[in-house]
Amino acid sequence: MNQIGTVYLVGAGPGAPDLLTLRAAELLRRADIVFYDALVHPDTIALADRAEKIAVGKRCGRHSTAQRFINKRLVDAARLHAVVVRLKGGDPLLFGRAQEEIDVLEQNGIGYQIVPGITAALAASAAVGTSMTRRGVSRNVTFVTPRRGAGEELHDWAHSALAADTCAMYMGVGEAEQIAATLMARGASPDRPVVIVENASLPGERRIAARLADLGQAAAQNISGPAIILLGEVYARVQSSPAAAEPLQRSRAA
Ligand code: SAH
Repeated sequence: MNQIGTVYLVGAGPGAPDLLTLRAAELLRRADIVFYDALVHPDTIALADRAEKIAVGKRCGRHSTAQRFINKRLVDAARLHAVVVRLKGGDPLLFGRAQEEIDVLEQNGIGYQIVPGITAALAASAAVGTSMTRRGVSRNVTFVTPRRGAGEELHDWAHSALAADTCAMYMGVGEAEQIAATLMARGASPDRPVVIVENASLPGERRIAARLADLGQAAAQNISGPAIILLGEVYARVQSSPAAAEPLQRSRAA
C-alpha cells in the first residue's frame, strides 16, 4: 500500500492551552487524525476540529495503550491520512518515548516532523519565578527521571541529578522520600533547596518549597496533578504558594 501521509510529533506544552506554538495549532487545524496523550488539555485537542481524535493516554498507574500498539497505529494512520498528528504533553522529545515512534516510522519509510513544545521543567520554572541558571550559582541543568520502564536496564539517575547545579526531575513525586534518601546517601546536602511544582501553567498550579531532607513530607501534601521536582541552590529563596498550607479540593478525578 502506498504511504501518503506525514506524521507530526507535536508538543502540546505543559498544560495551559495558550502555551501552544502557532505551528502546533495550525497542524491541529489541518489534522485528519490525532493521537493524544492523557495530559493534553481538552481545549488543545478541540483545535483539531475536523480530525478523528484518539486517546492513547499514559498516566502512571492507570490504563494506557501499549507503546507497540501506538507505534502500529501511527504507521497505519499514515497509510490512510495526509496529516497525522501525534500530540504529546510538554515537548515530544523529553520523556515521551518519541524515539520509539520515530524509529518505527523510519523503519516503515514514513515521513515525520517534530514540532517542539514547552516542557514541564520550563513551565515550572516560570511558576516559581526563578532562573534555572544564574551567574556564580548555576551553570548547568539536568532533566532527569528516576522512573524505569519495564525491562529497562538500571540507570544511575542519582548521579545525573547531582552532576548539575540545577536539576528538574520528572515523574519522581510518587517516590519522593526514596529519592531524597538516595540523593543524601550519595552525598547531597540535606539542606539542598527543592521545590515541587504541581500543575505548572494550569489553574491548580502549586509550589511546595522545602529542603531535600523534607522532600518526602513535602510530596505527601495531597498531590494529584502532574508534578515535577526542581532541585538546586537557585531555589533557596522560593516560597510555597499560599494554597500549599491547606490541601486543595480538586476537580480532577483521582
Ligand atoms: N514530555 C513531557 C514530559 C512527559 S513525562 C514534557 O516535556 O513536559 C510526564 C511528567 O512531566 C509528569 O510526571 C511530571 O513530572 C511532568 N509534568 C508534565 N506536566 C506537568 C505540569 N503541568 N506541571 C508539573 N509537572 C508536569
